[in-house]
Amino acid sequence: METVPHQAGGLNAPAGGPGTAPANAFVCPECGKAYDGDFALSYHRKVVHDTDPLAAATPGYGNALSHIRNAVIAGFVSTALTVVFAATGFMGMDAWSLIDATIILGLTIGVWNRNRGCAIALFVVWVLEKLFQFVSAPGSIVGIPIAIAFAVFFYQGISGTFEYHRWRAARPPAEGG
Ligand SMILES: [Zn+2]
Repeated sequence: METVPHQAGGLNAPAGGPGTAPANAFVCPECGKAYDGDFALSYHRKVVHDTDPLAAATPGYGNALSHIRNAVIAGFVSTALTVVFAATGFMGMDAWSLIDATIILGLTIGVWNRNRGCAIALFVVWVLEKLFQFVSAPGSIVGIPIAIAFAVFFYQGISGTFEYHRWRAARPPAEGG
């Protein structure tokens, strides 16, 4: 069905994995947090500390995580802004906007967990929501550039989660993860 991309690329390069960690305890050298798989730890180090040698050795993987991170940050920022705007009535937003914010937040958490469906839904919900907002409150049209910027980040969430799963499928399974 789907071709596996760049099988012979950097994916099989020595990853410099957690050589000193016990098999079922992968501990972050930066903050000491424990993970049950080297992939989970790798993801954490890339996203939280940007210090993952595995990501450095596999550019596609690093890009996927960066894209996912961009979408997640955009989701959290959007949620925070919506709550503030709803509280102040800015740009026609009201309490109903909080329902939107809750949906966006939930989908953002899904993208954080590398869920492809949530990434698609986040992008679609965002675009539809903004279209509806601009139609129902034409004054809010001034927010279009920001809305487009967020849409770009949310689109990166789609490409990032799909890239992540392609990368993971092409990679030998990690112990316990
Ligand atoms: Zn850490």
